[in-house]
Amino acid sequence: MIKDLTDLLAKKYEQLTVDASVDLVSMHRGGDEIKFIEPVSINGRLYRLEDDVVFFSGYLKTSIETACGRCLEPVSESVDLDFDEVVYAEGREEDYDLIIEPEGETIDIDSFILNLLDLKLPLKFLCDEECKGLCPVCGTNLNTSQCNCNDEKIDERFAMLKDLFKDR
Ligand SMILES: [Zn+2]
Ligand SMILES: [Zn+2]
Repeated sequence: MIKDLTDLLAKKYEQLTVDASVDLVSMHRGGDEIKFIEPVSINGRLYRLEDDVVFFSGYLKTSIETACGRCLEPVSESVDLDFDEVVYAEGREEDYDLIIEPEGETIDIDSFILNLLDLKLPLKFLCDEECKGLCPVCGTNLNTSQCNCNDEKIDERFAMLKDLFKDR
């Protein structure tokens, strides 16, 4: 969704209201895929702070699904966040951390949402605070089953490695 800032910049209006529901499929973040399981609702206002600087302040709400940071099982989370970001600063881009690249006197709300989420979402989601994760040796999901890799075996492997380096 493209929002035209021309009238705002020409001082016809003090602010523009944004009240939208945007369909997004997914985004990539680090090695993880984040899927949107409902449209992103975004409500707020674009306002001119100085002649050539536009802020976007508001509230974003959606639900996402991604992989647990420990066991890789799907996790769904609702996302609610407030924001107040600079989206346009003609000729003064160095003075502000712009969250998107404006195109002429327009901004792309979809890109704004994706960049905002990239910035604000936690780095990892967990299926549960107590998630036991995957066995580092065989990859078994330790929440649902056990494996036969015990500490003794891991110690044996490290001992073998040590011997390997000693011979060199
Ligand atoms: Zn997990
Ligand atoms: Zn194992």
